[in-house]
Parts: sequence; structure tokens; C-alpha cells
Amino acid sequence: MNRRDFLGSAAVASATLAFNGCNESNHVAIDYSKHPKKHDNAAKTVHFNRNKKTVIKLATSWPAHFPIMGTGVEKFAKRIQEISSGSLEIKIYPKNVLVPALAVFDACSSGQIDAFHSGPYYWKGKNSAFSLFSGLPFGFTAEEVNSWMLYGGGLDLWREQYTKYNLHPFLGGNTNIQMGGWFRKPINSLADMQGLKMRIPGLGGEVFSRMGVNPILLPAGEIYTSLERGVIDATEWVGPALDIKMGFYKVAPYYYSGWHEPGSVLELTFNKHIWSKLASEHQAMIEVAASEMNANMATEFHHDNIYALQKLKSLHVTLAKFPDDVTEAGKKALQEVINDLSTQNSDFAKVYASIKIYLTLCKEWSDVSLGYFLNIR
Ligand code: CA
Repeated sequence: MNRRDFLGSAAVASATLAFNGCNESNHVAIDYSKHPKKHDNAAKTVHFNRNKKTVIKLATSWPAHFPIMGTGVEKFAKRIQEISSGSLEIKIYPKNVLVPALAVFDACSSGQIDAFHSGPYYWKGKNSAFSLFSGLPFGFTAEEVNSWMLYGGGLDLWREQYTKYNLHPFLGGNTNIQMGGWFRKPINSLADMQGLKMRIPGLGGEVFSRMGVNPILLPAGEIYTSLERGVIDATEWVGPALDIKMGFYKVAPYYYSGWHEPGSVLELTFNKHIWSKLASEHQAMIEVAASEMNANMATEFHHDNIYALQKLKSLHVTLAKFPDDVTEAGKKALQEVINDLSTQNSDFAKVYASIKIYLTLCKEWSDVSLGYFLNIR
């Protein structure tokens, strides 16, 4: 075949291909004896029944359509619907519809519900170590806690602890850094904190308690009125995006930056028995959609916070930072809380030991990278 003949037959061949699409007769013959085809039957097996929908009953600790946390779970359920072609349904029960907000852990453990969305520090009464999976005052940022959880052994420790309750947790979002809270009067020194009645839960509450604050636990619906009437002097909540909706700025105009919840983890937790019975494809879909939810919630908090902060500034909120003696007292109190809980509870000691090593490394890297950059930007 000379060069002209070759070009001519190649042109004819490609024209034929264009008209016939993927007609087998146009394909170059491949000798499969030289390229043995893999018969990977395992990969082709479908473990779920396409004609039978699997339904997961998921209860949350949030009201229906609660911004970011509630709507984030709704997006997760919609995502599962899309990628499973409807073969897997996440049926959401907002707080108090099926079980009370803070009963989801027990309800899931016993099998009354299949899964829940909440925050691990709500269960510190069962095991003080659980609060560490939410985060630690002066601890990890959202980015750092994801790093510890996914690559530093945190998630394995979390699952090891939850297995005792027949539960299997996933990262289910992050509030990102929270604000220190709303105060009716300015805090000029540690002396102003003494006897202050403040709504602050979790490890942060225990730290504030040792600093002389009187921590008060209140249901969300009672915080504003209590602040307005002076039943409490201060409250923390989350950050600008959610705080502005609570209206705290109207009755407590001093808004402090914080260190008590620098990146609180939210959880998507399954009944372990139910989880193990799910088809492997459905498990993979949940892992993918949960990973998306975890990233998106932190990002949505960030986005909404930047605009809500501008709105709060226009409402003449006074932005403030705790005086140095308050922050130093907080660090000292935290160490006391950690020492006590580590002595009382070997689970707490084990989880904290992992956090301590990882946090030390995070601080070194963050100081020379992000810390430097944020200071000069
Ligand atoms: Ca909070």
C-alpha cells in the first residue's frame, strides 16, 4: 500500500465510523487471547434489590428546616435519593417528632431509629470522652479536627467508643469557629466574670465554671427571654449566622470573640447493626454524601457568618475580645478540667492523649503558615 492509498482508506474508515457510530464492524479486531479479559464478578454483583426501597429513619436534634444544620441534613437526604436512584430513602424526623432532641442517642442505640444527626458533646453524661469528639476549648479548628479525625486516628477512636453503644458515627458537619457569646455588660477583667450567670454547655461550661462563672443550662426557646429579663447575664450560641436569628443583640449588645468552641464537630450516626445490614453500594453512597455534608456545612457557616457579621455591625453591636487575664484563666481552668476527667475516666485519658499529640503538631504548622498569613493579610 502506497502512501496515497493508505490515506484514502483511512479517510473512508473514519467517515464510516462517523456515520455508523459504534458499529462493531468498524472496530479494529483485538486478539483477546493476548489481552485476557478480566472476569470480576464481585464488582458486578448488585447487593441491593432495585425493586425494594430501603428506608432509614433518621432523627435530628434540630427543628425542621433549622438553618444550616437542619437544612444540611435535608440536602444530604436529597443527595442520597439522587445517587441511589430512589433505592435508598433517608426519612428525616426533626426534633420531638419521633423522639426528643436529646434522646436520639439512646433511641438509635436501642434500634427505635436507624440514625441521627446531632453533636457528640450532648452525650458527655454517658461518657465524658464523647465531648472530645465535638472539640476542645483552645483546641482544633474545623480543618484541623477533620485532619485528626480522618488521618490522625480520631474517627477510629470515636468508633471504638461508640461501638459499646451499638453505634457507628460519621463526621456530619462542623459549625466552624464559634463566638464567645453575648454579654449584657462589658467584661473588662476576670473580676467581671465572677458570679456571672451564663448559658454555656459542654466542656466550655466546665471551664467557665472554674473561672468563677455560674453556667446555666437552658432550652433554646428560653434563652432570649432569660437574657432580656436578666435571669442570665450572658449566653453563647454559635456564630453570627445563627445568633442574629435569635435576636440576642437586642438585649446583650457586647459580642465577644471566642475560644471555647473553635470548630465543633456534628455527627451523623447509625445504629451499628442497621449499618452492617445495608448493601455495600448504599453504604458507599452514604459515605460519599456524608463527606459532602461535612464539607458543605462548615462552608455554609463560613459564608453566612461573613454576611451576618456585616448586618450585626449595622445594628451597632459592640465587637469585643476577652481581656488577657480571662483568656489565661481559661487556659489554666481547661488544664484542670482535663486533669480531673483524665483521672476519672480512662476513655477520656486515651482520647485526650491522641488529641494532645496531634494538637501540638497542628499548632506548630498553623503558626508558621496560616497564623502568620492571617496576621499580615
Ligand atoms: Ca455553642
